[in-house]
Amino acid sequence: MDVGQARAQEDRIIRAAESVIDEAVEFTRDLIRIPTVNPPGEFYEDGVHCVGKWLTRAGFTSEYIAAEGMAEHTAKHPRLNVIGRREGARPGKTLHLNGHVDVVPAGGGWTLDPFGAEVADGRIYGRGTCDMKAGIAAAIFAAEALRRAGVATDGAIEISGTVDEESGGDAGVAYLCKTGRVTAQNTQFVIIPEPLNVDRICVGHRGVYWFDVVTHGRIAHGSMPYLGHSAIDDMGAILEAIRTELQPELLKRRTKAPVVPELSRHATLNVNTVSGGQVGEDVQSPCVADRALAIFDRRFLLEEGFDATKAEIQKLLDSVAARVPGLRYELRDRMVVHPTATPENSPVTLSLQAAIARVLNKEAQIIASPGTYDQKHFDRIGHIPHTVAYGPGVLDLAHQPDEWVAIEDLKNSIAVLAIATTRLLNA
Ligand SMILES: [Zn+2]
Repeated sequence: MDVGQARAQEDRIIRAAESVIDEAVEFTRDLIRIPTVNPPGEFYEDGVHCVGKWLTRAGFTSEYIAAEGMAEHTAKHPRLNVIGRREGARPGKTLHLNGHVDVVPAGGGWTLDPFGAEVADGRIYGRGTCDMKAGIAAAIFAAEALRRAGVATDGAIEISGTVDEESGGDAGVAYLCKTGRVTAQNTQFVIIPEPLNVDRICVGHRGVYWFDVVTHGRIAHGSMPYLGHSAIDDMGAILEAIRTELQPELLKRRTKAPVVPELSRHATLNVNTVSGGQVGEDVQSPCVADRALAIFDRRFLLEEGFDATKAEIQKLLDSVAARVPGLRYELRDRMVVHPTATPENSPVTLSLQAAIARVLNKEAQIIASPGTYDQKHFDRIGHIPHTVAYGPGVLDLAHQPDEWVAIEDLKNSIAVLAIATTRLLNA
């Protein structure tokens, strides 16, 4: 195919993306009306079957995979995933598009029904519109647009709807990778249509280290505090050292990864929780606190690595313990997510860049996420380095009240994904 023919084919794909938009909106609304809220993981079977039904209409063969053996897969809240596969005209590589069907709870502050899927002013409103049910729509209708444009691909397109991304993804993407269903042996490229803005490609994320610090004191009568040892005072000393010694160090470190927002290029630390002494505000008795707990969220950089991150915290706690008489503490790991980065100039990034230039007539921005998403599982468990996130929706709207996605964004991302697919599979 020469340059002129390739251009004409991409024009056909862009027109086909416009022709499927009404159905893409209908699918997104169908899925929004199923409140797949996590926690606890409600209506997952309904959500996943909705995805499967539309995959079948787009010519895919669907396979349903329950997370057998996982503690969170229960009779009340089954963890079910779906993978659709559509074979191309000739053998070749496999592109896997993955979206999570779970959404975070609606929370307060809505002016519309969070599960009403209302359409107004060119937007679809509802919990999960941008994060990321419209992303799943973009994947399915990109494949459908290719079919309608009469464009055959080599290899195969797979599209999955998975669960539990919002709570770590162990019964979702991690399960599919661990069981060998999606690994480097059978999958070359992965695109996750998370909402990162329609002109941005996300090439990874920082690491996460959640840890608990517990201080142990000795209980005594509150009128004679000098006879006890306050665990809360000790926690205060630790928090002060973190604020005045560790935080300034973290602010000096900056990753080379293009993390947005800009301030998240630094290593960061947040205190999630502080509790200690007597729980609750109602009835109190006069006691010195014998226990205090703080839970921390440390986001570390690829350049720092996990071992050095943990060692630094251990060292700081030891130094506080050395100068505060009687301070006893425990450090406990709660969760570790290693950072991930797509190789530079990965074909999956390049094909999306070219497609964004073609559809939106602008240069794509390459970014990394301040948080984390299922890319870690494809990379660390599935060993598929050529994984990125690209999809419709505005990142800042994720998890907010009155969440919405613009129908124009959805249409453009369908065209971008369809063109990127042909460039990847027919290279
Ligand atoms: Zn998401």
